[in-house]
Order: sequence, then C-alpha cells, then structure tokens
Amino acid sequence: MENKLADLRDTRFVLYEQLGIEKLCETEKYADHSKETFEMIIDTAEKLAINQFAPVNSEGDEIGCVFEQGTVRCPEVYRTPFQKYCEGGWMSLPDVYDVGGQNAPFAMYFACHELFYAANHALTVYMGLTHSAAKVTEIFGTDEQKRKYMQPLYEGRYSGTMDLTETQAGSDVGVARTRAIRNPDGTYSIVGGKIFISSGDNNLTENIIHIVLARIVGAPEGTRGLSCFIVPKYRVNDDGTLGEPNDLTCAGVEHKMGIHGSPTSVLNFGDNGKCVGELLGPEQKGIVVMFHMMNEQRVLVGLQGQALGSTAYLHALDFARERKQGSRFGSKDSTQVPIITHPDVRRNLLWMKSYTEGLRALILYTTFCMDMEAASAGEDDKKKWQNIVELLTPIAKAYSTDKGFDVCTRAIQVHGGYGYCKEYKVEQFARDCKITAIYEGTNAIQALDLFGRKIRMSSGAAYNTVLSEMKAAVEKASGVSELAPYAGEVAKSITALEEITRFLIEKASGEDAYLAYSWATPYLEIFGDIVLGWMFIWQACTAHESEAGSSANDKQFYAGKISTAKFYIGSLLPAVYGKIDAIKQFDRSFVQMDEALFLP
Ligand SMILES: Cc1cc2nc3c(=O)[nH]c(=O)nc-3n(C[C@H](O)[C@H](O)[C@H](O)COP(=O)(O)OP(=O)(O)OC[C@H]3O[C@@H](n4cnc5c(N)ncnc54)[C@H](O)[C@@H]3O)c2cc1C
Repeated sequence: MENKLADLRDTRFVLYEQLGIEKLCETEKYADHSKETFEMIIDTAEKLAINQFAPVNSEGDEIGCVFEQGTVRCPEVYRTPFQKYCEGGWMSLPDVYDVGGQNAPFAMYFACHELFYAANHALTVYMGLTHSAAKVTEIFGTDEQKRKYMQPLYEGRYSGTMDLTETQAGSDVGVARTRAIRNPDGTYSIVGGKIFISSGDNNLTENIIHIVLARIVGAPEGTRGLSCFIVPKYRVNDDGTLGEPNDLTCAGVEHKMGIHGSPTSVLNFGDNGKCVGELLGPEQKGIVVMFHMMNEQRVLVGLQGQALGSTAYLHALDFARERKQGSRFGSKDSTQVPIITHPDVRRNLLWMKSYTEGLRALILYTTFCMDMEAASAGEDDKKKWQNIVELLTPIAKAYSTDKGFDVCTRAIQVHGGYGYCKEYKVEQFARDCKITAIYEGTNAIQALDLFGRKIRMSSGAAYNTVLSEMKAAVEKASGVSELAPYAGEVAKSITALEEITRFLIEKASGEDAYLAYSWATPYLEIFGDIVLGWMFIWQACTAHESEAGSSANDKQFYAGKISTAKFYIGSLLPAVYGKIDAIKQFDRSFVQMDEALFLP
C-alpha cells in the first residue's frame, strides 16, 4: 500500500512525541482511548483514503458535477467511498457516544482527515460540512431537531450545508437579505437566495439539511439581526420518514477552477412562499450559532491547504528521485543523475518539506488544544486552551492555505513540463487548493480577525498566552547545546514579533489606522512564520530527546527532523526580518496612491 498522501511517521511524531496526545487518555473524557485505539484509527483511515478516496480523485475531477433538470448529479464514483466513510463511523469520530460517535480526540479526527483531503479534496468537502451541520444542531438544536436532523447527519444519511453567501453579501455577511417570516405554528417561511453553497444540491444522500442565515422580518440590520435556520430539502415527518419537498430550488452550479466534484450551488428559497425553516438557537443569535460551524470549518480548511501541500510534496519527491536530467553538480562525469541531486531542486524540496511538516504541527497542535479545552476540569485551564485556539484559528486557516498552495505550485515546478499536464496529478492539487484561501472567510478576513480582534481581545490575554507557550519551548531548547543557537534565533524572532505588534497596534489606534490595517495580511504571515519557528524548535527538542536509544530507522527520522528544523530556522525564518522592516518603514506612498492613480 503506497502512501503518497501524508508522511504518517511525521503525523505519529507530532501526535505521540511532540504533543503527547496519550495524556488525553488520562482524562475522564478520553479515558476509553489509548495509543492502541489511536493506531487502529490511523491505520484504518490510511486504508480507506488509499483504497477508496484516492482512486476516484482524477475521475471525479474529470466528470465534475452535472446540473440537469433542477438537480445535481455528483460523480457516481463518489458513492462507494462516501458509503464506506459513513459505515466506518468517520463522520462522528470525535463526537460523544450519545450521538453514536466514538469520542475520539479532535486531533485524531484531523490527523485522519489530512489523509482524506489529500486523497480526494472535493469528496471530503461533503463530509466536513455535514459534520459541522450535525455538530451545530447538537449544540443548539431542540430535542426534536436533534432526533430529526442531527442523527441522520451524523450517520451520513443526510448531508449538510452552510448557507451564508449572497450576491451582495460575500465577506460582508451582515448585509444578507434572505428573510424569515414567522408562521403561526412556530416555523418560519424563508425567502431569498444564496450563492456558492458547497454541496447545495447533491444526489449522494437522501436529504440535505441547509443551515441558513436569514433575517427575521423586523429584526435590525447588520450581523446582529441575523438568525440561523434549519431548512431541509425534503421536510421530515415526525416518524423520521421524508415528507414533501421543501420550496427550495437549485438554479445551477458554478464551473470552477478546482474541486469539480463538489457542487457549488445557487439556491433559491421560497419562490412559492412555501419554504419552511426552523429556528436553530435563539432569534438574532444566528452569527453566534454560525460561528460554531465556522470555527471548526476554518481550521478544517487550513487542514485542506496543508493536506494538499503534503501530497503535492510527496509526489514531487517521488518524481525528483526518478527523473534524470543533467550530471552531478561539479562532476566531469556526464551520466544523467536524478534531479533531486541538483541544488535548486533539493532546496525546493526541503522548502516544501519544511512547510508541510510545520503546518501539520500547527494544525494538529490547534486541534489538540481544542481537546485539552474539552478535557480540562478547571475553568482557568479551559480558558488557557481556548485562548490558544482562538488566536491560532485565523493563522491555521490563512497561513496554512497560502503556504499549502505555494507548496502545490512548487511541486508543479519540480515536475517541469510534466507538472503542467493532467497525467501528473500535481496540477489538480494546485487547482483544488486555491479555493482554501478564499472560502470560509477569505485570508484577508482572517488577517483582520487576527490583527483587529484576536491579538487585542481580553486585553491581549490570548496573544500573551501564545507568547508564553512559545517562550517556554525556546527556553527548553536553549538548554540543549546542539539546539541553543537555533533557540536563540527563534527567541530573536519572538522579540521582533512583539515589537512589530506594539508598533502596529499603536499606529492602528491613531490617525494612521488605514495604513496600519493595510499591513494586516503581511502581519499574519509574519506571525505564521514565527509560529512555525516555535513548532520547529519544539520538534527539534523532542526529536533530540527521543533519539537516544531509538532504532536505526527512527534515528534517521529524528536526524531528518532536526535537519528540517534547523533548515527552517536557519534558512527560512530570517526572511521574517525583511518583512518586519518593510512594515517599520511605514512608507506613506500607499496612502498617497489615490484610487484614481491606479490607472489614470
Ligand atoms: C467553491 C466555493 C465554495 C463555497 N462554499 C460556500 C459555502 O458552502 N457556503 C457559503 O456561505 N459560501 C461559500 N462560498 C463563498 C465564499 O465563502 C465567498 O466567496 C467568500 O466569503 C468571499 O466572498 P466573495 O466571493 O463575495 O468576495 P468579496 O467579499 O467580494 O471579496 C473580494 C475580495 O475583496 C476582499 N475583501 C472584501 N471585503 C474586505 C474587507 N472588509 N477587508 C479586506 N478585504 C476585503 C476579499 O478578501 C477578496 O479578496 C464558496 C465559494 C466558492 C468559490
């Protein structure tokens, strides 16, 4: 079984050695789990991804989704993997036993889904949204809603969608015009239109549950006036059987750059005034409800970027070991050698390996913090983990998707002309990956969330918590002589981060706010660069500890890990100072550049 999806040795290193995920099993919440159950889960996920998901990735991309007579036909080849995923209980892997879940840590769910997204991004989008729809119904639904909708969603009999976007309401969610009119029986009539809805119509499941943001007539303008509704494609009878179709139609699907197997749908609600919705959660708290869905989805989208980068890197590595061009650098022997021996290709591959592994650590750490929050008994502890998750979420989403895409395009480059051709898969990874920087709140919106809100919230509590975790890892590594210089480099970058954060916050609170906010995206990138420095110094320290007495194979892995960490910290991290200096110049040409001057 060849795995060109993810380096599971590295996944295991992050889970068991870096994070020590087994300590979760000592808590009451995860007491039923052990390393053995985790291993079983990873092995089974690997088989499912390799045997079922990956083989239909190209075909799903070729066939795409077909819109015919008002309904969407998904690639037929998706049906079996989708069924096997549901039968295997993957949908509810991290959910409590009461809902039929397996109560596994979220970090495990993410580790497995790295394989699924790498194997077939478009197919796995159906599952991710269905899980989030089930989860939000579990948290906010009435008992009846849980019985009617949540349970079939967790079982994968129904699929779920998340309906925010409208033509005039993209990033600007608060201007949504979809209306909800109260009916005497307590339900609501939904009227309006949504666009770009993933899985908005599909023929993989018997019903589709739309989680829709709409404004109850008379509610205030803006996001605070929005409420959340469950709008099923088919109404569900009290005994769980399907009733009549709801008054909602699919008006078409988009023809896109990538994820062709995922139908991005235009939905019209209530053309005949008969679209029935049920309120989910309190009135006018729709954005709070939706944020539960969005927070999970944001880290999951970060995972998509990382996963596609991971598989693109492994394909490039394989190709670079096979493809022979040119002779060995500096040699008089004209025998052709594998391109991996050339300095440029080798540097490119190490660049890709660094980001792939750094991002994996970031994503799994973020989800591990979610688990620690769920498993902690004390309020202070819970708050600490929650703070870390809050701060890292926009970075996990935006940084992972931007860098994941960069890894995909570099993988094409390593393949030369072959990378530009369909036969070699990497072009699909890049096409599929691009959307991850756009949906679930564009990466610019993530940067605003980080700079405008997260670093300052609760007087900087989340920001300070993350900084002290970073500093603790650096301090530990500085006690290891081999790593001390690298720990010093990471410490220096953290000081630079603190300085640029203070600088920008000060500017943002005065007359220069517009100019300061124009640096939000580069600021997120800087933060991400330094977070990866933290991950790598932590990993190097862990590898150093594990190395002694390990097997020959493991020794090689640890040596590779320490070299990768040193390469990242020594060769890639220093670029951060140029980025920071550029901000500190605080050059005003940006504000002087009037809109009219762009194209006089
Ligand atoms: C394949 C696909 C699947 C999707 N799936 C779903 C789904 O399931 N459910 C759903 O509700 N939506 C979905 N979307 C919609 C997606 O979330 C939006 O496209 C996204 O939020 C951006 O909105 P927009 O396209 O209207 O762009 P706009 O909001 O018009 O943004 C255009 C550009 O301006 C920037 N921008 C806008 N406002 C600001 C600001 N205030 N500050 C800084 N920059 C700003 C953006 O970053 C972007 O670069 C999907 C989209 C696609 C393409």
